[in-house]
Amino acid sequence: MVKCSFCDKPAVYVNRVNNTAYCRTHFIEYFERKVKKTIRKYRMLGKNEHIIVAVSGGKDSLSLLYFLWKLSRKNPGWRVSALLIDEGIKGYREYTIMNFLRVNERLGVPYRIASFKEYIGMTLDEIVEEGRRRGLPYLPCAYCGVFRRYLLNKVAREMGGTVLATAHNMDDMVQTFLMNLAKDTLERLARLAPVTGVASHEKFVKRIKPFIEVSEKETTIYALLNGLIQPEYYKCPYAEFNIRFKIRRMINELEEAQPGTKNGLLNSMLETVRLLAGSRKVEEEIKTCRICGEPSSHDVCRACQFRIELGLLEKPVFRLE
Ligand code: SF4
Ligand code: ZN
Repeated sequence: MVKCSFCDKPAVYVNRVNNTAYCRTHFIEYFERKVKKTIRKYRMLGKNEHIIVAVSGGKDSLSLLYFLWKLSRKNPGWRVSALLIDEGIKGYREYTIMNFLRVNERLGVPYRIASFKEYIGMTLDEIVEEGRRRGLPYLPCAYCGVFRRYLLNKVAREMGGTVLATAHNMDDMVQTFLMNLAKDTLERLARLAPVTGVASHEKFVKRIKPFIEVSEKETTIYALLNGLIQPEYYKCPYAEFNIRFKIRRMINELEEAQPGTKNGLLNSMLETVRLLAGSRKVEEEIKTCRICGEPSSHDVCRACQFRIELGLLEKPVFRLE
């Protein structure tokens, strides 16, 4: 039995990068200290905030909700609410919503569930079917990502949030970094910064990623130790189309063979984002969508473009530049 490096209790986690073992108590202490340090380092939160936590009902977002809820109880200037986007993925999302509701019974955080059906006019399942019927070239995750990002910002603003916290962890970030390198979409790297959306458009809610420096394994252990997840595991039926899962497997194999790989990739990503900040390559000019009035990098935002292609919106009468 491996013992905790700080006491005699059995270890629940061994950090292979620095060969340190943690028991339950010392792991929770280590995890929370690390996330607080990230929040301070990137000045993610001010004295008075209404923090909207983007939750999916999965382990990462429930860990973030629990962590920020716990933190807010010691900070009277911080209010926490949750926002769950229900894309409408049958056989998957209804179970993760149940997970969220079960955990939130304990926390009592005010929340809002906003659905694609309500805001976009179709569930993701219907969108995918309609897209195929019309011969559109997009994969399910393309619609899902665009509409989810769009609604998170819009509804967080409607809820009066001053900051939107997402549960992207170190693994998510390095996967997205490699995906962008592979697709030659460097212009999207600005989105990977720990803090985004500050003063770039009046309708953008500032976004923070407090878990950016903790690994997926660490957030999973944190969720398990705090009773936030059920033993059942639900997988999105569209996940098989997403290259992310192949990249995830590849990075995990590299990490296994050479502990510290993920940390190295994360540091390279942060440095690349920092070096590219301000360059025209990554700093998109933020305009206002001429259809819906939301922030956009084009005259018509990606969400409205998809809605036009899916027949959910009339083609605009103005000339698109
Ligand atoms: Fe959406 Fe794709 Fe994730 Fe499923 S796997 S929730 S479709 S982004
Ligand atoms: Zn729009």
